Amino acid sequence: MELLEDSIVPEEALDIKAEAREFAAEHIEPNAQEYYSSGDYPTDILEAGQEVGLVAQDIPEEYGGRGLSLPEILAITEEFYRADAGIALTLQLASFGCEITYEYGNEEQKEKYLRPVAEGEQLSGLAVSEPETGSDLAGMQTTAEKDGDEYVLNGEKYWIGNGVEADWVTVYARTGDNPDNRYGNHSMFIVPTDTEGYEAEHIPEKMGFRASKQAHITFDDCRIPEENIIGYEGNGFMMLAEFFNHGRVVVAGHGLGLAAAAIEEAWDFVHDREEFGRKVSDFQSVQHDLADMLIEFESARSLTWRACEKVASGQNAGYWAAMAKTKATETATHNAEKGMQLHGGRSVLDERRIARVYRDVRIPVIYEGANAIQRNLVYRQA
Ligand SMILES: Cc1cc2nc3c(=O)[nH]c(=O)nc-3n(C[C@H](O)[C@H](O)[C@H](O)COP(=O)(O)OP(=O)(O)OC[C@H]3O[C@@H](n4cnc5c(N)ncnc54)[C@H](O)[C@@H]3O)c2cc1C
Repeated sequence: MELLEDSIVPEEALDIKAEAREFAAEHIEPNAQEYYSSGDYPTDILEAGQEVGLVAQDIPEEYGGRGLSLPEILAITEEFYRADAGIALTLQLASFGCEITYEYGNEEQKEKYLRPVAEGEQLSGLAVSEPETGSDLAGMQTTAEKDGDEYVLNGEKYWIGNGVEADWVTVYARTGDNPDNRYGNHSMFIVPTDTEGYEAEHIPEKMGFRASKQAHITFDDCRIPEENIIGYEGNGFMMLAEFFNHGRVVVAGHGLGLAAAAIEEAWDFVHDREEFGRKVSDFQSVQHDLADMLIEFESARSLTWRACEKVASGQNAGYWAAMAKTKATETATHNAEKGMQLHGGRSVLDERRIARVYRDVRIPVIYEGANAIQRNLVYRQA
């Protein structure tokens, strides 16, 4: 069964989709269980992805990347997450946050910070969430105070992908405190991770996405030059909102890959397993479960590719991105749950792909904005 079939994918993204599938089959799928068990950072797969130009290639061509479009990134995403979500996230996070610099940064910043990431010499990250604040973007407390020709950062960030591994991170910090302008109080900064006052440690081990690493970062009088601000003071929330519109389409792709994996795994299992002297797949209720998984998957995929087109062309992007993210990530949880049930007792064996998928699907419904927040956006922007 070919779930991630090509017909819904725009022409421009077909070549890269084929490249991604080949890479996933050679490098991700065969190593998924091992990295899941060990929880190690998949450096060798990341390097292989950098080598073949499938990592950090959203960065524009003039700064060393391939300038991949949103449909191209979504096509890669479906394939990678079908193979394994934890490894896929590590590959995708290699350039996390770079979009903010190439959209709003100045020439010097782009040349200095983007090129090494595009060329596979450096990793980036995006630091928004905090220990005490996650969903309320306008409520983040980390401060960046101007002192002469520097900004001084103080505060904490939590859940930050590559916070330990990255060479620099884009940090969302408070530069104002105007209660009447909640959305104008934050700015974005490029912070090299070797700056004095930047400390990061891995957060405790997770139950899913174990091959990707997140960090708790502490800024303690962390001084960066004023030229490291991206765009201008007070524009951070707006930049982040734009960034998330693209990011949420990509996270919908995380859901699609995982939902497809759940179907494949359940399908194979019930067509092989026998009970009551026949294949489990001969029972009509089992066929209905598989049909429901397919219906949910195709609905989510249609919506996601429609949202991709809307977001890429700037048509009510926030609405479509939130809708696709919610539908696709919840389809993944639905399909994983059904897939587990159809596996019977074997579902809970750690070595089973369905068990890995079941754990992983808990995460995309939370990150890039919990789905409750997406529903707020869908309602408000309808
Ligand atoms: C594996 C992983 C990787 C991540 N990577 C990054 C990263 O690289 N960079 C980064 O900055 N962050 C990252 N995050 C953080 C992620 O974006 C946050 O976890 C997410 O925004 C939710 O914030 P929270 O966990 O603080 O939940 P909270 O904001 O505390 O929300 C808890 C729950 O409360 C409910 N809720 C909250 N607000 C509302 C509301 N207004 N209406 C209705 N219900 C509501 C929802 O059910 C929500 O799930 C990552 C998280 C995970 C799990």
